[in-house]
Amino acid sequence: GLKGRIQDLEQGKKKFPEVKFLTYKDRKRILITGGAGFVGSHLVDLLMMEGHEVTVVDNFFTGRKRNVEHWIGHENFELLHHDIVNPLYIEVDEIYHLACPASPPNYMYNPIKTIKTNTLGTINMLGLAKRVRAKMLLASTSEVYGDPEQHPQNEDYWGHVNPIGPRACYDEGKRVAETMCFAYKKQESLEVRVARIFNTYGPRMHMNDGRVVSNFILQALQNENITVYGDGTQTRSFQYVTDLVDGLVKLMASNYSMPVNLGNPDEHTIMDFAHIIRGLVKGSSKIVRRPAMQDDPRRRRPDITRAKKLLNWEPKVPMTLGINLTIEYFRNELLRSRHSQRN
Ligand code: NAD
Ligand code: UDP
Ligand code: UDP
Repeated sequence: GLKGRIQDLEQGKKKFPEVKFLTYKDRKRILITGGAGFVGSHLVDLLMMEGHEVTVVDNFFTGRKRNVEHWIGHENFELLHHDIVNPLYIEVDEIYHLACPASPPNYMYNPIKTIKTNTLGTINMLGLAKRVRAKMLLASTSEVYGDPEQHPQNEDYWGHVNPIGPRACYDEGKRVAETMCFAYKKQESLEVRVARIFNTYGPRMHMNDGRVVSNFILQALQNENITVYGDGTQTRSFQYVTDLVDGLVKLMASNYSMPVNLGNPDEHTIMDFAHIIRGLVKGSSKIVRRPAMQDDPRRRRPDITRAKKLLNWEPKVPMTLGINLTIEYFRNELLRSRHSQRN
């Protein structure tokens, strides 16, 4: 299957997977902004395997060439080093707009840049979509719900966001990006799709991006303390990345333009999660508490009724399998970084 092929490629067997052959009529020209990042690179794999022409645009702020290097040289693939804050003129049929730093330490590192990417960057992609009459899918986020007063969150909930807090560059940035999509839909009859993505994990997450899954796995693998921020009673619901990209492709193909939650409703407290990961890694880490993050949402779980009904989509990968695949990935990454330090 696809997973096996990609594992082969990542282990350095340099050959292209056998992609499906599509006739000119069925083959789409697809732009993926942020395609060298964690989610974007898995989407590249899926759409390339389906036989489409894929162009990745990325400024490599948090993305890496290595995430897509197995496609470099393939005739259907193109990688452009470009910052979407600047206009972009190309010809495409569909745009998956994912470019934006996604983890709190990354998006807080340069909040003004995060705002520019979400506002100017999104306007540019909408302007492009308008000029070439492409469909545009925005990778929005559960963060538009802020620290939610409604649980679980469905798409009709308007959210509870601090407009001047440390997360605002991201939360408010994505909220206005959604607003822009609907303005272009209304005024320019653009076809838009809005995916509200909940916490996602899997191989190719960055080692140092500070998200809870990568932190806990790396800490457990190195027998370091597992750091729980606050009292650990806050909850999150984690989906495996291949489930998400299946949902994104289904959403793009649908004729539904209102926002759709994509996430796994399997909810855990962060403390629980620390125990689960330590158990699966079988290490000897201690679980320790650290000060709580400001404005950290207390509870988060998607209501995915809409995605189930409209897209016939729901997550399939159970947590133990997903975490084990991710542990494997980070184990290899640690070996690789130790190896490169020695050389
Ligand atoms: P990521 O940081 O791995 O990927 C983002 C990519 O965008 C990177 O490759 C980065 O270099 C690129 N980028 C950033 N700013 C850019 C700019 N100005 N011009 C061009 N490229 C730029 O993050 P990810 O987890 O893959 O997230 C992808 C998208 O999904 C983001 O829009 C994020 O907001 C959204 N999302 C992710 C999650 C999650 O849990 N991973 C949850 C909700 C929403
Ligand atoms: N844009 C782009 N690529 C295109 C078309 C437009 O990057 O192929 C940018 C353009 O720079 C503009 C933005 O998208 O700033 C919004 O475009 P729109 O046509 O809506 O606005 P206008 O050009 O009329 O101000
Ligand atoms: N978290 C934690 N320890 C860490 C990293 C994160 O306890 O080392 C907590 C964090 O405070 C939050 C949850 O885990 O409550 C999810 O954090 P993450 O940054 O992964 O995503 P987000 O807050 O955007 O959902």
